[in-house]
Amino acid sequence: MNYIDVILPIPLEKRFTYSITPAESEFLKVGMRVSIPFGKSKIYTGIVADIHQKAPVIYEAKEIHQILDDSPIVTSMQLQLWQWIANYYMCTEGEVMRAALPNAFLLESETIISKNDKQQINDADLKDDEFLIFEALQHQSSLKIQDIANILDKKNVLPVVKRLVDKEVIILNEEIYDKYKPKYVRYVKLSEQYTSETSLNTLLDELSSRAKKQRDVILTLFSLSAKTKKPVKVTDLVAESLTSSATVKALIDKGILEDYHIQTDRIIYEGEDNEDSKKLNQYQTEALEQIKTSFDTHNVVLLHGITSSGKTEVYVKLIEDVIAKGKQVLYLLPEIALTTQLVTRLQNYFGEQVAVFHSKYSAHERVEVYNQVLTNSAKAKIILGARSSIFLPFNDLGLIIVDEEHESSFKQFDPAPRYHARDAAIVLASLFKAKTLLGSATPSLESYYNAQEKKYGLVEINRRYNNVQLPEIELVDIKDKQKRKKMKGHFTDRLIEEMTEAIADGHQIILFQNRRGYSPIVECNTCGHSPQCPNCDVSLTYHQYRKQLRCHYCGYNSAMLQKCMACGTADLDTKGFGTEQIESEVKLLFPDLKVGRMDLDTTRGKFGYEKIITAFEQQDIDVLVGTQMLTKGLDFRNVKLVGVMNADNLLNFPDFRAHERSFQLMLQVSGRAGRTEKRGKVLIQTYNPYHKILQQVSTNDYVSMFKEQLEERYNYNYPPYFRLIKITIKHRDYNKVNMAADWLAKALTQLFKHHVLGPEFPPISRIRNQYHKNILIKIPQGQSLGKTKEAIKKVNSSFGAIADFKSVRIIINVDNY
Ligand code: ADP
Ligand code: ZN
Repeated sequence: MNYIDVILPIPLEKRFTYSITPAESEFLKVGMRVSIPFGKSKIYTGIVADIHQKAPVIYEAKEIHQILDDSPIVTSMQLQLWQWIANYYMCTEGEVMRAALPNAFLLESETIISKNDKQQINDADLKDDEFLIFEALQHQSSLKIQDIANILDKKNVLPVVKRLVDKEVIILNEEIYDKYKPKYVRYVKLSEQYTSETSLNTLLDELSSRAKKQRDVILTLFSLSAKTKKPVKVTDLVAESLTSSATVKALIDKGILEDYHIQTDRIIYEGEDNEDSKKLNQYQTEALEQIKTSFDTHNVVLLHGITSSGKTEVYVKLIEDVIAKGKQVLYLLPEIALTTQLVTRLQNYFGEQVAVFHSKYSAHERVEVYNQVLTNSAKAKIILGARSSIFLPFNDLGLIIVDEEHESSFKQFDPAPRYHARDAAIVLASLFKAKTLLGSATPSLESYYNAQEKKYGLVEINRRYNNVQLPEIELVDIKDKQKRKKMKGHFTDRLIEEMTEAIADGHQIILFQNRRGYSPIVECNTCGHSPQCPNCDVSLTYHQYRKQLRCHYCGYNSAMLQKCMACGTADLDTKGFGTEQIESEVKLLFPDLKVGRMDLDTTRGKFGYEKIITAFEQQDIDVLVGTQMLTKGLDFRNVKLVGVMNADNLLNFPDFRAHERSFQLMLQVSGRAGRTEKRGKVLIQTYNPYHKILQQVSTNDYVSMFKEQLEERYNYNYPPYFRLIKITIKHRDYNKVNMAADWLAKALTQLFKHHVLGPEFPPISRIRNQYHKNILIKIPQGQSLGKTKEAIKKVNSSFGAIADFKSVRIIINVDNY
């Protein structure tokens, strides 16, 4: 008898064994999907992880329903990575599988199926059973697998459903995302009728007498397209020919020029249109050589290059080498916000060899990229993606680049697997004996420490490209300004002066404030009451734009109050400020400027990021106000001034990483200023100008920050010296959380003694009506991580056996960030 071990996409401790027939065993390979019965009536899609002859001891193996693939869709490397992640991050392989595979691969009994309205279906293309389902969907908007089983009067329906998905007749419910639409950019070209030399000469003659400006525009268009050999953007043409957009519009209206739009991250380049990669300057060349040498002795190299030192161009050279050998490259980015700019840049060099993988893509597009990577297609040699792209089915990976490696968004919080994409990427690379390059202007303490310890190679670039100086950073003392009445709203006189000057010089401005909304607290001036979220232990944030009070944890909202709910007085005040308030203050102070805002509220929609980034790039916005979204590696050409509205929020955050984070955030946001010829300026407003971190920011002194923070980490037993595992206990009932947390803490303390901290309520102890309490386990360097985790698992399963705690949720977060 033959058996297979199957990974199911649910949190099971173990793989499940099923029996297969001899015919099936001829055909089946590890990594194929099978549809399988589970429990009383459930059907799942599982992945075959092993084929063998050992019958399970405890239970009788059921038969599988059907094999779903002709060839494996999951590679053995992926299975190894899944196993590593499940082990290391203390979750199940099933949870990893769910995160790793596009939803469209995971048919199961709960799947909801609906018609794909975007596709014209020809009945004749459908087999009988397929047609029955298609027909049923004409009358009903959606069906469940069970309904389909009833319609077809058989149990085994996943194969039909799969065929319909492949034919794009149906879509699965999870796919009803907004379809990601990349930005469109306006280009301009000469109309067909003027492309012959004679007609063109006549036109130019005509214009030179009557419309000299228009003639200049046309000549500029020629020189631009000759120079770049690429489509010419309307904005570039206007800038280069020193005219206004009105002149260009006049030419378009006359039919002399034509405008058209191209989707920037999908431009299809003809081979010859590709730009050559840039010639590196001396510092970049040295860095590149050092990286290559360092890879001889290290699997991981950290590139510490200041903002705008041209790290991306160095990556490009490495990528060229790797794809020349036919290998694949993974380029990891912390946020999709960044991809728009980078996709364009990489496609200029590598054309259609670049594929993008991120969550805003439709399920279909994600499946497309998945399959391209699986088959090592020429269209997916370079994968640009956010953290989940480590799960793609690479088969010949040569290099992983982790850009902005310090970013905490590489760590997944919820749900499991709670993995760190940077760290998992290093494991992934090692499976392929490939190299990993980490890049940052402000490396994480962990990575820099690993470099100091010679675990990683270290390469530095200390000059900006073009030798532009790093921006000058000025700390402005808010307390002093308040005393001397030099503040207007939240703006010091210094900031207003610098803003006025920057605008007069035709430059753009970024203002950074780490909170969204208008004001985080509303308070009654009479009785002091402030409205709280009914579901969470936080005060509601006032959003002026929508005249609402909103909870940033659960999404609860209500209309802004006219009077205090407690005492009825109509004398409500606001405390603290967010991006909305800064935006409206800028509008008051500078009524002529165009102000934009980039935060979670303005980037939610389909085109959120692209719209704002494009508008700012094209200088339709003068002042951009935003949260930390602004800090992430964006390359704007015309920004000369960056203002940090209040540094103290960041510094006072209750977390052992707060100082490291503040340093990174402020240097990164400063890095957006003065990236081209002229030196930029940064103003940081604070109540504590003598704070060490601010001093280190203002002198760009990464190494001092590193040394000092490292000493603190050493003294207080934090990473990189100790590892951390955080255990969170969650339940609706306050008492139950306390009891459960005490039980766990006691059991863990018996094992790990004083290395157990807590249980403790976090600053926000109730979210969505669930109380949270945390226990932190610190693991010293000599202690076996594997054994520690085993011990925690044991405690956890004894805990699970206590009837009283059945409904309590335990969340384990390894390397808690
Ligand atoms: P970083 O990633 O280090 O912040 P970038 O790679 O974005 O820096 O480079 C900053 C700017 O300098 C970019 O606009 C880039 O095109 C330009 N640049 C960098 N290196 C070169 C080079 N060797 N030749 C021409 N331009 C370069
Ligand atoms: Zn809430």
